[in-house]
Amino acid sequence: MSEADGQFYSVQVGDSTFTVLKRYQQLRAIGSGAQGIVCSALDTVLSIPVAVKKLCRPFQNQTHAKRAYRELVLLKCVNHKNIIRLINVFTPQKSLEEFQDLYLVMELMDASLCQVIHMDLDHERMSYLLYQILCGIRHLHSAGIIHRDLKPSNIVVKSDCTLKILDFGLARTACTNFMMTPYVVTRYYRAPEVILGMKYKENVDLWSVGCIMAEMISHKVLFPGKDYIDQWNKVIEILGTPSIEFMNRLMETVRNYVMNKPQYPGVSFAELFPDWAFPSESEHDKLKTCQARDLLSKMLVIDPECRISVEEALHHPYIHVWYDPGEADAPPPQISDKQLEEREHTIDLHVKLLFQK
Ligand code: AMP
Repeated sequence: MSEADGQFYSVQVGDSTFTVLKRYQQLRAIGSGAQGIVCSALDTVLSIPVAVKKLCRPFQNQTHAKRAYRELVLLKCVNHKNIIRLINVFTPQKSLEEFQDLYLVMELMDASLCQVIHMDLDHERMSYLLYQILCGIRHLHSAGIIHRDLKPSNIVVKSDCTLKILDFGLARTACTNFMMTPYVVTRYYRAPEVILGMKYKENVDLWSVGCIMAEMISHKVLFPGKDYIDQWNKVIEILGTPSIEFMNRLMETVRNYVMNKPQYPGVSFAELFPDWAFPSESEHDKLKTCQARDLLSKMLVIDPECRISVEEALHHPYIHVWYDPGEADAPPPQISDKQLEEREHTIDLHVKLLFQK
């Protein structure tokens, strides 16, 4: 926070005022999320387009403070082509006492995956997008970060089909039920382990990739539950009642609930994702369609013990065509704040830590 006075100006963006360094011009709203509003802008010093995200009063409660702090620490440590790059951080407030808003400047992408999902993608584009999601996730996993909340709105793409993940998902100790925000949290892509409150491992994120891939093909949300109960109903109606071994691993109260549901046989993947839903110009397309359906059937598995792992997915024939060890096996990032998840900072300490960033 070493910027001198007079280097800021204010501009109205929708309902929000952005007070940013003068080097950032031509602000235009491009999106909003749980934490605040995102604008595109021109960095007049470097002559490059950037994204400026305003974290509004990031310390308004413990959840916000913790999330903002975690995101900032991780953004600074992670350096991978499939994770968004942080270029600058600033606050227009001059002192810790006045500290209100934090602005993150990131590389600018063209659209979120929400927009791309409505397009008819050929196999080449679809597999390349999925490969990049898997490389990004694998890199987070290598640093001990398991995302658990991957969704199309948190993944951004460029027209050249390059892709980056925007956030780091749920913190291990995050309070996920209570957030003082009117923002509606999308839970459609969360795995059974998250819905049912079970232990999870890295392949929890493969479920979300499966849901995203399904949506790329069908152009509709696969499990659009109004709440976790409704969502679980949709999962079992489509994939069938899970095995007894799976149910035995649930907490007793959850197990009683899950076991008392009607039995569903599930729908076959050939019915769920019929040939006509895929590109079918050539023999090559037909082969790719079979591979795509096979990959879906291995990711959309309720029991994580039977679900494909990230490494296996990267080696699956549908994905492996893109395999580059530099991207898929990049050295793990060194997280400087090892106690990131475990340490329970007070709001006051979070404010101080955020201000010092
Ligand atoms: P977030 O607050 O990070 O969840 O972002 C909210 C929305 O803003 C995303 O769904 C994207 O549409 C957009 N967005 C965020 N960051 C960027 C970026 N770096 N480039 C392009 N769009 C972005």
